[in-house]
Amino acid sequence: MSLVVSPVTTARSRAVLRPVAPGSCAVCPGCATAVKFAARVRKHQVIANVYVGDRWDRVEHYHPECYGKAGDPHGPVIELPANERRR
Ligand SMILES: [Zn+2]
Repeated sequence: MSLVVSPVTTARSRAVLRPVAPGSCAVCPGCATAVKFAARVRKHQVIANVYVGDRWDRVEHYHPECYGKAGDPHGPVIELPANERRR
């Protein structure tokens, strides 16, 4: 059995800017340290949904500055309004 990875992708990796949630313990791939919630500082993180081929593979949590330093590896950061998806 052989697998062919199509170069045509319908689903793309994307990155959004979000506030860091309390209890977050994700490790930033850019600097290998935790993306930590801080009560006094309104920190943000870049959440990247990573697609391999056309399939969702994983979520990566970056510090915004690390994501920028990495050269926007999953595309430009989409900044969503805070109340998006709240119903
Ligand atoms: Zn980082």
